[in-house]
Amino acid sequence: MHVPDLIARKREGEELTCDEIEALILGFTRGEIPDYQMSAWAMAVFFQGLNDSETATLTRAMRDSGSVFSYPAGSPPKVDKHSTGGVGDKVSLVLAPLLACEDLWVPMVSGRGLGITGGTLDKLEAIPGFRVALSEHEALAQLEKIGVFMAGQTDGFCPADKKLYALRDVTGTVPSKPLIVASIMSKKLAESLDRLVLDVKFGSGAFMKTRSDAESLAGHLASAGEANGVHTTFVISEMNQPLGLSVGNALEVTEAVETLQGCGPVDLVNLTLDLAEDVTTCGRDVLVAHLTSGRAWEKFVALTEAQGGDATLLTNLRTVHSAPVRRPVVAPQSGLLQKMDAGIIGRAAVGLGAGRKLALDAIDFAVGFSELAKSGILVETGQLLCWVHARDEHAAAHAESEILRAAEILS
Ligand code: URA
Repeated sequence: MHVPDLIARKREGEELTCDEIEALILGFTRGEIPDYQMSAWAMAVFFQGLNDSETATLTRAMRDSGSVFSYPAGSPPKVDKHSTGGVGDKVSLVLAPLLACEDLWVPMVSGRGLGITGGTLDKLEAIPGFRVALSEHEALAQLEKIGVFMAGQTDGFCPADKKLYALRDVTGTVPSKPLIVASIMSKKLAESLDRLVLDVKFGSGAFMKTRSDAESLAGHLASAGEANGVHTTFVISEMNQPLGLSVGNALEVTEAVETLQGCGPVDLVNLTLDLAEDVTTCGRDVLVAHLTSGRAWEKFVALTEAQGGDATLLTNLRTVHSAPVRRPVVAPQSGLLQKMDAGIIGRAAVGLGAGRKLALDAIDFAVGFSELAKSGILVETGQLLCWVHARDEHAAAHAESEILRAAEILS
């Protein structure tokens, strides 16, 4: 295989064969194809796309780059959800323990931050000690014990996605439908699920900007699931403003903890319940009771402890990761808050250090935004639009100007 030739052929919009795609993924996973060639190939795919058969081959090749889970006979149904990515999206942190309150197994393999969207793994790592790299043996043992694990791709599990995901994050190649399908479905198929629900987002803070693009992506994702024996449904959700009231890793874990303790913001709770209903057979009232009774919270504590995290710090994370500068941003005028643009806020969060600009960048867990005002409310001059949590005054001032740009107020 001559890799420059494969890149050039995809750049010209030619179809690649199964053998070529499989060899590309194998070579990349083994480290024989360097990042610069794979990035160029991803950019060619970004512009030229992949057809259905190429996408199916890529998904299978990425799934088979590591091991595929198998479970003991008679174990409970395996269910999971995956989001296409949003700003302030901490649903997984609430949903995984919530589902595990039922007689289900939740083998949740998630990702890190991607582009302007936050990643579940980065959020979990804000919990001191929390280990997201589990071996297959550890993952299975944890399912047997508490019914849930939350982990990342490893060198043994979907390693191709682990590497490609990190490259796409920093090379402008995230919002490509076939690359998103292969990334998400390779992980979910390797989990050997019975049921999967997808949260497919559209809007300024999502990779798909329009509802029709999100619907088309959802159709491709669901067909890939169903074609491989996984009952797959989806919820299309709007991402024009951040989900919940906070953006940033430790701030979002704190909000997830509050939600698991029955005090979550309405939009986060509703979306979590909508998704949970799709993969459970119990009623919404039962799911609500898991949140309000403390059962889901106890499950999250058990999950944290099982993965080495210090659960005693869960209710105190904002102190553990406390940003040196806290600055209020207030409304410059009275009127209707028409917009809190998720795209601008997501980019501002990455600018503060909550996401990566380079593949090896460290995440700053403390920074981000809290108490974000929701669009559609009436605000008075001087009313709080959010708190900025920043490393220094310069970063805080820039973030403040970005929030003022994101907030459209109609007087
Ligand atoms: N989530 C993933 O796992 N992969 C993507 O490409 C986008 C969202």
